[in-house]
Amino acid sequence: MHPDLPKLLDVQGKDRRLAELGVTMDALVTERAVLDAALERVRADIAAATRMAADYARRRDETAAKLDTQRSNQEKRRVRLESERNPRLAAQLMADVELARSILAQEESDWMRLADDATQRASLVAEAEARVAALEEEQAEARAAFAAQMAEIQADVDAAKAERESAASALDRTLRTRYDRLRNARKTEILVPAEKSICTACYTAIPSSRIGRLEAEGLLLEGCEMCGAIIYLTDAVV
Ligand SMILES: [Zn+2]
Repeated sequence: MHPDLPKLLDVQGKDRRLAELGVTMDALVTERAVLDAALERVRADIAAATRMAADYARRRDETAAKLDTQRSNQEKRRVRLESERNPRLAAQLMADVELARSILAQEESDWMRLADDATQRASLVAEAEARVAALEEEQAEARAAFAAQMAEIQADVDAAKAERESAASALDRTLRTRYDRLRNARKTEILVPAEKSICTACYTAIPSSRIGRLEAEGLLLEGCEMCGAIIYLTDAVV
């Protein structure tokens, strides 16, 4: 057996373990994102309800300010009416007072409606806030479980990285550089077994000029001519 073959297979096995842990971690992150999205939707409800409540409160307050001005103008007309001696001007003032009274009555009823609406809108904000609080409580257990699982996997990742590093340091520098380059370039495995003189990564036949060395050493370090995978014989691994 070629002396580099067991070392390479060891590094590849540890890379495989790291990749598996990465997949597990990604799955957890994806699942946790579902909780985040649910919470985000309810939080968006609060934001929308708050904007609406603020809008109603502003309109209520504007109407109240307008009413104050109109009431004070009406009061001034009444005062003028009491002291007006000219019958024609008094009749005109009387008509103005009557008109203003009906406008005021309408505005007062508008204000009351706005005040009711504003109160109702404020209670919708409180309801949305209660829904967020309830959902946060409902998710707390699941989030704690995710955090625990993630911490556990992260510890496994850290350990697996250290093991990988130690396995990789057993390779000579050139081979390690080559392996790492292939690892970055290939989605599939770097060391693949030959089967009936065929590379099992790309199913290209290994040239007869190389078969002899593969059979003698159990390893073709220069790799597959077609896909670059490093080829080995499973028989060589005991
Ligand atoms: Zn190949």
